[in-house]
Formats: sequence, C-alpha cells, structure tokens
Amino acid sequence: MDLTSPIDDSPERAALRESVRALLKRHIPAERALRIDTERLWDEPAWQALADAGLLGLGGDHALGGSGGTATDSMVVTEEISRVLPSLGVVYVGTAMAMRMLSDPACGAMTSLLAGVADGSRKICFGMSEPGAGTDLLRLRTSAREVDGAWELTGQKTWITLGTEADVILVVARTDSPEAGRLGRGISVLAVPTDQPGVERRSVKLAGMRAAITSEIFLDGARAPLENLVGERGRAMSILGRTLDVERLLSAAISLGIAGAALGLSVRYATERHAFERPIGGFQAVQHPLADSASEVFAVRAMMNLVAQHIDSGADARNTAAMAKMYAGETAARVVDRAMRAQGAMGLAEEGPLQMFFRDARLALFSPMSNEMARNTIGEALGLPRSY
Ligand SMILES: Cc1cc2nc3c(=O)[nH]c(=O)nc-3n(C[C@H](O)[C@H](O)[C@H](O)COP(=O)(O)OP(=O)(O)OC[C@H]3O[C@@H](n4cnc5c(N)ncnc54)[C@H](O)[C@@H]3O)c2cc1C
Repeated sequence: MDLTSPIDDSPERAALRESVRALLKRHIPAERALRIDTERLWDEPAWQALADAGLLGLGGDHALGGSGGTATDSMVVTEEISRVLPSLGVVYVGTAMAMRMLSDPACGAMTSLLAGVADGSRKICFGMSEPGAGTDLLRLRTSAREVDGAWELTGQKTWITLGTEADVILVVARTDSPEAGRLGRGISVLAVPTDQPGVERRSVKLAGMRAAITSEIFLDGARAPLENLVGERGRAMSILGRTLDVERLLSAAISLGIAGAALGLSVRYATERHAFERPIGGFQAVQHPLADSASEVFAVRAMMNLVAQHIDSGADARNTAAMAKMYAGETAARVVDRAMRAQGAMGLAEEGPLQMFFRDARLALFSPMSNEMARNTIGEALGLPRSY
C-alpha cells in the first residue's frame, strides 16, 4: 500500500478520483498550476472542463440541472483539485455550496440559477464577510430595502472568492431590524447580479490562495428583483446553517489535499536528495517527522470518511464536521511545515510547488470558520457554557 496515496472506501469513489486526476493532469499540469498561482490567473478553460465533466454540478439536484452525487463525492473532488491548486479548491467549494443551497426548494425562484452554475455559463460567489464582520458575522452592516418594487443594497463585502469573475453574488444583508436579543434574525440572502452600476469590484492581493480571485465588493444602490430573495426573508442564518456540515467537510478536504501533496513531495525529496553520502530520508531526524505526517494524514482521512458517511446518511454532523475541519487544517499546517524542513532551501524556491502549499495551508486555520470558533462550538456541544 502506498501510504502517500489516498485510500478510497469503494471502487466507484476510486474511479471518480482517477477521472478527476486525469482531467486535472490534462488541463492544469503542475507547471501550469504554479503559473496560475504566481500570476493570480483565472483559468476559464479549466473551469469549463470541470463543468463539462459534471463536476461543478455535484451536490446539485438532478431535476434542476445538477449532477446529484453525495457529500463524499464532493469531498473527493475537492481534495484532488486542492492537491494540484488549493486556491481552485477554494473556488470549487463555493460553487459546491451554491449547488446545495440552490437545490433547496425553499430557495424559491432562485433555483433556476443552478443549471447555469452547473454548466459553467454563470459564476456565483458568496458575499458574507465585511470589513467589520468576519467571525462575528451578525454585526454585518450591508443593508437591503425595498425601493420601487426591487431590492436596493448598500454596503461593502470583503475577501470574496471569485468576486470579480462572478455573474451573481449571494449577498448576506440586513433586510429587517433584529428581533430583541436575536441579532441573527432580520438577515436575508439576496442574489444580486454583478452587471450593473451599483456594483463595484476590486481585486485583493493575498500572499496565500493567490488564484482564488479574492475581491472587495462595494454595493451602492445595487438593485435586485424582489424574487431574488433566496429562501425565507430574515432567515439567512438558518438557510446558511443547513449546509454548514458540508462546508466544514469540504474545507477539511482542501486541507487534506494540501497535506497529501506536501507529504508526497517531501518523501520524494527525502529519497532523492543526498547528504553525507546517503539519502536524507535515511536520517531519523528527517524520516520520523515524515512518518508522523503520514500517520496524521491517515487519521484525518479516516475521520473525514466517517463524517462524510454521517452527512450522506442524513445524520447531524455539524459538530463532528467542525472537528474534522479543525484537525485537518492543523494537520495540513504541521505536515507542510515538516515538508519545508525536509526540503531545506528548495522548499522556499518559487520554481517548486511546496511554497504554494505552505502559504495556502494558512487559510483553513481561520476560514470559513476559525479554529478558535470551532473549539467554541465543540465546547458548547460538550455541554460547557458558551464561551463567546
Ligand atoms: C482566501 C480567502 C477566501 C475567502 N472567501 C470568502 C468568501 O467567498 N465569502 C466570504 O464571505 N468570506 C470569505 N473569506 C473571509 C473569511 O470567511 C474570514 O476571513 C473568516 O470568516 C474570519 O474572519 P476575519 O478574517 O475577519 O477574522 P476575525 O473575525 O477578525 O478574527 C480574527 C481572530 O480572532 C479570533 N476570534 C474572533 N472571535 C473569537 C471568539 N469569540 N473566540 C475566540 N477567538 C475569536 C478568530 O478565531 C481569529 O483567529 C475569505 C477569506 C480568505 C482569506
């Protein structure tokens, strides 16, 4: 058994993994991935290839134009994309979440968006975070009100994945005053077209996840038809909450992809690089950390497979998914760090991919939910007093 390769729980899953690998090898070989990352490019043909293979529609209702599929399938695809180019994994997760959300009949007229997102003809992004509202999302200030038979939005969103490419933003905005003591009530999700004067977008340059097309979005009188309300008015938190377990699982899959890639790169380097007339992997100081990494990656995968099975069986997996997201993120950060140690100067070289994984591993520590917040919710699930 190759301990640096993923172990799948069924032949169907292994076949899906192989087909995603083959597609990525054709469209985003390793040198291309590095270039996309370095130059912060958006690769439309590669995205369209994912759409044509039915991968963008995964998790989306068949009857509405999606490809169906389980959370486990989405996890495998996310991991494989992230092994090659983690920032594309981040974009992919946003689309996978949109598929799940728009499949919910409660999303009303907006379910018609699903087919376009699945076939790649329309791109969608999630506008939640704001300069003053990240972890504490309920403090968001973007507002939407009804003016002349349409929604009119004012506010600012930041760190939005795919922001400057998207045709539609799912904006989380306050539509009503909060109910007494319940800050989460009165916030809604609205599908806002980007092709209008009230929407201005700017790229944000990040040191990690450089090809996730991260953007700031300014809404100044942006308009959306009344029927673009996604789900029930004032209940954004419950709409977003329905997909939380899958979001956490797929976030863990990004980390698993990064960790798997870094482990493979470090083992290869430790085998090929010689010092003192032997491969550096022959020194226990190099070998043992890599053995630790392999064991931790194995543990993360086992944990994630279990969480995915729970989600697919309809069980409530929010807390166990938070555990997996947290553990996968911290494992990836450790595994990449050990890989950097094993590679010496070569780990920092821009001609190699390890520095990309090193930078990209940071995201999962604080997004989409920070690991501190994950610990808060796990603590609460243990019956301990709410700590925030
Ligand atoms: C590459 C990238 C892509 C992103 N994509 C999107 C996107 O598509 N859409 C979107 O809406 N947002 C997106 N984000 C934003 C992301 O969701 C936020 O970064 C995340 O929610 C954390 O918010 P923050 O960065 O403002 O950190 P803050 O909320 O300022 O937190 C800073 C630190 O304080 C800690 N902290 C805060 N409150 C507590 C508490 N109660 N207990 C313990 N610790 C606490 C946090 O854990 C964290 O360590 C993206 C960010 C990046 C970097």
